Amino acid sequence: MKLIIVESPTKAKTLARFLGDGYVIEATMGHIKDLPKSKLGVDVENNFLPDFELVEKRSKEIAVLKRQAQKAKEIFIASDPDREGEAIAFHVKEIIGDGKTKRIVFHEITKEAVETAIANPRDIDKALVDAQIARRVLDRLVGYNLSPLLWRKVRRGLSAGRVQTVAVRLIVEREREIQKFKSIEYWEIIVDLKNKHSFSAQLLKLNGKTPILDQKEKTDVVVKELKEADYKISKVTKKETVKTPPPPFTTSTMTQNTTHLFGWSAKRTMMVAQRLYEEGLITYHRTDSVHLSETALGQARSYIEKTFGKAYLPDTPRFYKTKSKNAQEAHEAIRPTQINNLGGELISEQKKLYQLIWNRFLACQMTQAVFDSTAIDVVAEYRKNLYLLRASGQIIKFDGYKKVLPGSSNGEITLPPVEENENLTLVKVNPSQKFTLPPPKFNEASLIKTLEKLGIGRPSTYAPIITTIQIRSYVEKDEGKFTPTTVGNAVTDFLVKYFPDTFEYSFTADMEADLDLVAENKKDWTKIVKQFWTPFDKILKDVTKNAKRVKIEVEKIGKKCPECKEGELVIRVGRFGKFISCSRFPECKFTDKYQDRINVKCP
Ligand SMILES: [Zn+2]
Repeated sequence: MKLIIVESPTKAKTLARFLGDGYVIEATMGHIKDLPKSKLGVDVENNFLPDFELVEKRSKEIAVLKRQAQKAKEIFIASDPDREGEAIAFHVKEIIGDGKTKRIVFHEITKEAVETAIANPRDIDKALVDAQIARRVLDRLVGYNLSPLLWRKVRRGLSAGRVQTVAVRLIVEREREIQKFKSIEYWEIIVDLKNKHSFSAQLLKLNGKTPILDQKEKTDVVVKELKEADYKISKVTKKETVKTPPPPFTTSTMTQNTTHLFGWSAKRTMMVAQRLYEEGLITYHRTDSVHLSETALGQARSYIEKTFGKAYLPDTPRFYKTKSKNAQEAHEAIRPTQINNLGGELISEQKKLYQLIWNRFLACQMTQAVFDSTAIDVVAEYRKNLYLLRASGQIIKFDGYKKVLPGSSNGEITLPPVEENENLTLVKVNPSQKFTLPPPKFNEASLIKTLEKLGIGRPSTYAPIITTIQIRSYVEKDEGKFTPTTVGNAVTDFLVKYFPDTFEYSFTADMEADLDLVAENKKDWTKIVKQFWTPFDKILKDVTKNAKRVKIEVEKIGKKCPECKEGELVIRVGRFGKFISCSRFPECKFTDKYQDRINVKCP
């Protein structure tokens, strides 16, 4: 008998579908070893040696693995193809012994991929394991040591993470920018015109300069003149523009799209994607690569030609460049494993995500979309003043990849066939008052995009970061947008003030880059941790001794405390969200449930 070990029962079931009778497949149900819950579990005096313990709730699985391993002639550990999976493989090998144990990796759970993997087993990649251990140790050192500090200096029950703090910081700083923002008034003027046909044009220039219309009085003068002016078409510009398809999905772009299109959280997206991967329908969903295999390219090209015809097939396959230099974990982009599977059999969420991935993948190998773009310049003459107005239009000439990926184009604006020097009749002048807008609040999509751009997030960390900062009540999500809580503000200010380097964006990004180097066997993990720990530990001791206690701002609700009749009722943020309490806490212990005034329905 040959034993294959994977993490999840679904993955085991999919493998069982196409592996013969000679195989037994067992699932670990995730990590079987982890740092202890009750103590630091990292020996900072001894090269940061981690004390990984068997996970207690996995004792049943561990017993089964050991028993099956004894009976097996050959053992293949087939945990997921990344650092996390490699660490699981490492720990499994530790408990079942060496000898007949081999590691196999595949990026899609298909018959061909698995058979190829079994034919080409390798050893455990210690560099990948080290990168995972280093992340775990760093996060543990930060989390475990910051909690008691925050309890003492800010409030009991608080905890903070290395990367999560930086994510909260982004949201805190954005909120302050929004608060500080001063909106500026401006006016836009659209003029409706006609001759044989009607169209509208926007005011651009006055005597060659952009007019400054920042108040109604100035706008009124212009409107008055435009009402009296003579209109003529001065120029018609036509040109062909093309649009190239976007690259296939990575974890980051996939979650950004599902947030935009379906309103899904990153966590939800990753759960659905996990299922599709484990069922063998898509390639591994934690990836920052846009690379595509030869087989996948071939499948896409023949599908495109057969289904849409030669016009939709470029002469050569399109290659996309991966920004991440993480060659060791050279994954593929997220794509369907079988292009002929249109996902019709799938249900609900899985179907939605699968078809999104399918469309994006197919589109990335199709021809460009071609547009006819037109600009009509109109001159309005009033006495000595020359106003320039412009109408822009775009119509699609050839849909190309947009056949399968229509996307949110700005809509088609068709302009009428007009000629230069044509005189026009004024129909109406439409002034409208506008205000400049503050930068938008973060949503999950823009937060992931920013984390990726800053080099802070990784395919395996986006969803956990976003989940954690909400669970800890550091930020709140309302209609998909993030706002920091008072606790989020207080903790961020405290940490950024006393640990300016640790929670600097570039520092966190450099740390991620260092972890990538560990994974590539180019850096020793203990050195990285030491470099981090020595200054951090020094500041930690100093802050513990010297920092003043921080007061968390509270929001008054404008009611007296019903218990002591002295204090005022305020909103506080606790570990389980907002609640009402007395401003005289801890002297007065009155509390009440907080109900969001917006969400309360009239009984
Ligand atoms: Zn009170």
